[in-house]
Amino acid sequence: MLIYHFFKDLINIRINYDIGKKTWFGTGGKAKILLVINNLKSLQFILKILPKSHPIFLIGAGSNVIVRDGGINGITIKLGKEFKKINYTKEKKIINIGSATRDLDISKFCYENSIGNFEFLRGIPGTLGGNIVMNAGCFGSSISDKLISCTIINRNGHIKKLPKESLKFDYRFSSIPKDSIVIEAEFKAITKNKTIIKQKLKKINNERTSNQPVNFRTGGSTFKNTSDESAWKLIDKINFRGKIIGGAKVSELHTNFLINNGNANSLDLELLGEEIRTKIKKKYNINLDWELKRVGQFKKI
Ligand SMILES: Cc1cc2nc3c(=O)[nH]c(=O)nc-3n(C[C@H](O)[C@H](O)[C@H](O)COP(=O)(O)OP(=O)(O)OC[C@H]3O[C@@H](n4cnc5c(N)ncnc54)[C@H](O)[C@@H]3O)c2cc1C
Repeated sequence: MLIYHFFKDLINIRINYDIGKKTWFGTGGKAKILLVINNLKSLQFILKILPKSHPIFLIGAGSNVIVRDGGINGITIKLGKEFKKINYTKEKKIINIGSATRDLDISKFCYENSIGNFEFLRGIPGTLGGNIVMNAGCFGSSISDKLISCTIINRNGHIKKLPKESLKFDYRFSSIPKDSIVIEAEFKAITKNKTIIKQKLKKINNERTSNQPVNFRTGGSTFKNTSDESAWKLIDKINFRGKIIGGAKVSELHTNFLINNGNANSLDLELLGEEIRTKIKKKYNINLDWELKRVGQFKKI
């Protein structure tokens, strides 16, 4: 009871929480147990006391996931309040960002403080933690470009600061250990003229609105580009622009974006994705890799 009172503002426990509906696709089942954890001490406590047999899934903004319709067993963790922070040490030109901080807030902060090279985050709807794990990027930049170090906590509750040199980053890939949670990261802050930053933000925003289905529920790019060809071109070549399965549809505007047409479930999205992969494999002998993370269980029927 004492422990409950101590942690009640720091850990919010939700049972059978409709997590799928909170993802960008807005599809999928419930999290059996969702813990919204508001500070590092509580996160460390939870990781230490939870039996290691309990699988943990960390959800950020849910902008790169399909939560399957049967939901997520085990423990889902979402980082709250104290993980949403940005500290800028101007003299050292270092910016420290908490992993639950939203990309839009990072790009705004950098603009306000004349820090360049973070403009690309203007169009990515994730959080810093998701960005690092996915090495998110666009318009020629990625989150690892100006990274100095990244702090993680592992499944045993041990905290470790990893310099960039000890990690591998590639196109939508990072070597962050699978069972670790990103807590925060440090970046080099490069001063840039505010007007130039503003122009770039505007350009990125315009390109997004004209080339991507921004008014639909989507998870962004479905597949990784191959080394030889963009995924969207391959999908176009098999004539899947606008293709529908159930409530899932290949966007007319950008063929590498799947959209929830209003009544999709996660199975529709995944079946449409697999249909694309099968067709492309058959016609071009190319394996398209999912960029979206698919988590949870299929619904039993
Ligand atoms: C409209 C739209 C446009 C997009 N455009 C781009 C783009 O241009 N470039 C691009 O790269 N991506 C893009 N994305 C995809 C997505 O926004 C990024 O991959 C983003 O980095 C995911 O962050 P998130 O917080 O939403 O992660 P989630 O989707 O919640 O999770 C993604 C993965 O990261 C893990 N994860 C999240 N946070 C942490 C953490 N703190 N510690 C450990 N693991 C964690 C999750 O467990 C999961 O495996 C787009 C998505 C949408 C919907």
